[in-house]
Amino acid sequence: HGEASEVPVSTPNGTVYFGLQHPLVVVAGPCSVENEEMIIETARRVKAAGAQFLRGGAYKPRTSPYAFQGHGESALELLAAARQETGLGIITEVMDAAELEIIAEVADVVQIGARNMQNFSLLKKVGAQEKPVLLKRGMSATVEDWLMAAEYILASGNPNVILCERGIRTFDRQYTRNTLDLAVVPVLRKLTHLPIMIDPSHGTGWATYVPDTAKAAIAIGADSLMIEVHPNPAKALSDGPQSLTPDRFDSLMQELAIVGKAM
Ligand code: PEP
Ligand code: MN
Repeated sequence: HGEASEVPVSTPNGTVYFGLQHPLVVVAGPCSVENEEMIIETARRVKAAGAQFLRGGAYKPRTSPYAFQGHGESALELLAAARQETGLGIITEVMDAAELEIIAEVADVVQIGARNMQNFSLLKKVGAQEKPVLLKRGMSATVEDWLMAAEYILASGNPNVILCERGIRTFDRQYTRNTLDLAVVPVLRKLTHLPIMIDPSHGTGWATYVPDTAKAAIAIGADSLMIEVHPNPAKALSDGPQSLTPDRFDSLMQELAIVGKAM
């Protein structure tokens, strides 16, 4: 492979570029969109701290069918309101092709979650639409599996794919939720031109480990970070333990500025 490619994403605040030759792009927000107040507050706070994108799930891939499944269409409306209010780009997950059209109306980047990384029919469908795609690594996916999944999207006509490492299955769940594979950043750099994002929130599972691993991600060359932020992590409907408060996120953004990649 030759040069690293850039993925341009148009947002209300202008075009944001993901890629090696561009400043760090930070995506922040709650695991799930819970209500209007919390998503607007989070959007304002992460914007003020310097994030370019708001993340938030409307359709949630939960391990248990009895766990909160996301507010669906009404959550998409709240994301649209947050976008309008702050100018942040929106990233949200598509779980089912049936919802792709309404998600792509609101999202500036469509996320394919770890559990759908090899849902080939869904990959072909996001490849056949125009919005850039964030492809999370499957929890037990090899690098080859992951790159071939990206290839499905590219081969279907969409050149704008961002790869996101979010931790792989660990044998030791006692201390971390997953094993964050930071070494995959230089490995991917050798194998692909696509931009690389690291998600230390799902990667470690604990807010206390997020700042250090976020800094390490930048030091090892990641182009972008995804960080879960919730105004009240103790009350979150999903992934509270790994979510930073807006205050902690704000100080992390200041700490990141001195690690490496320009912001
Ligand atoms: C998420 O981003 O909230 C999520 C469900 O991530 P993953 O697919 O990596 O588990
Ligand atoms: Mn989550």
